[in-house]
Amino acid sequence: MGGARSSYLKRRLLRLQVGFLLSEGPGNSKDVPICLPQRLEVASDLYLESLTGNLVLTRTKEGILVQGILHVSHGRECDRCLEAFDHAYELSVAELFASPPDANISVFSVDSNGEIDLAPLLREEVLIEESYRTVCRADCRGLSAETGINLNHEEEGALVEAGRPGEGGGAIDPRLAILQQLLK
Ligand SMILES: [Zn+2]
Repeated sequence: MGGARSSYLKRRLLRLQVGFLLSEGPGNSKDVPICLPQRLEVASDLYLESLTGNLVLTRTKEGILVQGILHVSHGRECDRCLEAFDHAYELSVAELFASPPDANISVFSVDSNGEIDLAPLLREEVLIEESYRTVCRADCRGLSAETGINLNHEEEGALVEAGRPGEGGGAIDPRLAILQQLLK
């Protein structure tokens, strides 16, 4: 951590002003592009590497309906090999922000400043999306049950060694083995 990782976009950017839509009648809507291509704080326990996409805000009788697709990039740890990787996926969002606030209609609401805060909604959606097992790649080989070594690296390491015959003890080219015998 530290260095470049310590700078990030504040979660304040996830607040959207919707007062103008509230003053319009039901059925009116507005496209809101989301373009946050940098590390972003969503909550104290959740930072994303980027968040982009497009939301459509629609004025309904109960408040503001937020719909759209968001592209999430989240730096995570592979469940199988424990290596850090970039988990990228799409979130489909469809949520009503009640106005006036009404817990019977939605847990989300438009606040007294005419703003909606996407952060709690986003955090909830991300936690649901990431609640199942996630691996760095479909064919991740995980850790060796015996040695705990990352088997993805072990395979790469073996290939490198095979490409340099003669170095090291075990991986000597059989055609050179006879020369080694002669040198002894
Ligand atoms: Zn993995």
